[in-house]
Amino acid sequence: MISWGSSGRLEYWVVGTDRDTAIALSDAFCKPRVERVDMTARECLADRTNEDHGFLMYHRIVADALANAKPASSAGHNGGYQWGIHRYSSSLPLGFAGQLEIHPEGDQITLLHEYWHSIQMSFIHRTDHQIRKKQMGPVRFSEGSAVAMAEITAENLWATGRLSRAASQGDPWPNFKQRMINKMNFIQEKIQDCDSVLPDTYEGVDGRLAYKSGGWAVAYLLYRHGRGVLRERFHPRVAELGWEGAFQKTFGQTSTQFIEEFKGFLGLPLEKQIEILPKF
Ligand SMILES: [Zn+2]
Repeated sequence: MISWGSSGRLEYWVVGTDRDTAIALSDAFCKPRVERVDMTARECLADRTNEDHGFLMYHRIVADALANAKPASSAGHNGGYQWGIHRYSSSLPLGFAGQLEIHPEGDQITLLHEYWHSIQMSFIHRTDHQIRKKQMGPVRFSEGSAVAMAEITAENLWATGRLSRAASQGDPWPNFKQRMINKMNFIQEKIQDCDSVLPDTYEGVDGRLAYKSGGWAVAYLLYRHGRGVLRERFHPRVAELGWEGAFQKTFGQTSTQFIEEFKGFLGLPLEKQIEILPKF
């Protein structure tokens, strides 16, 4: 990858709008799995209808979105480490497909976001699921860093002409600063209702806050420690020191101390907050 190096072998399966084709795609996914004895044919067939990441789930999300003209999408890194790959699945990116006036720039950011997860995981070598989860860190960090790295990297690639922008439909695509302000407005509106300013959950409003507030928190860490700090210093330490140990060694404070400091940052006026953002 142009900015971050390679995270290793990767499969990215994009499920379209036609159900029969989604099933054929699922068969194409299963063929090498069964040949390499990654899965049995029966396991792979069952995986197709898995409600967490099955091909038919991704098909249904976009089929419903188009039928109701209500934008929806989903993409995820769905494991694969036990097979020596990063396994991705995605619903049809509506922006790339020119549907429902969705900005294709948002799909480009999603790709970078997802790829960042493979970078995070490329530093984790254990196969035990619980240990892997711990080494990825809390949701505010694993997702927050994917949000921040994708937003900043996309803006940098567009600004330097290394990634072209497809013409958007409808309203103009907001620039980086505006996108971050939108996230901050969401944070300020929702933090009263949430248990933490930096939640560790995927569920409900707290889950949405974890992405947005986590994105700002990581942008703040990058401002203080350099834009390359995660890939160059933090992640290489995770396997040996664990997530919290790597955090303390890299950022010179515990993650709890950081949350306290970040609470103070959230209380600053917006014009002070945006001073930490990289300029493009
Ligand atoms: Zn993510």
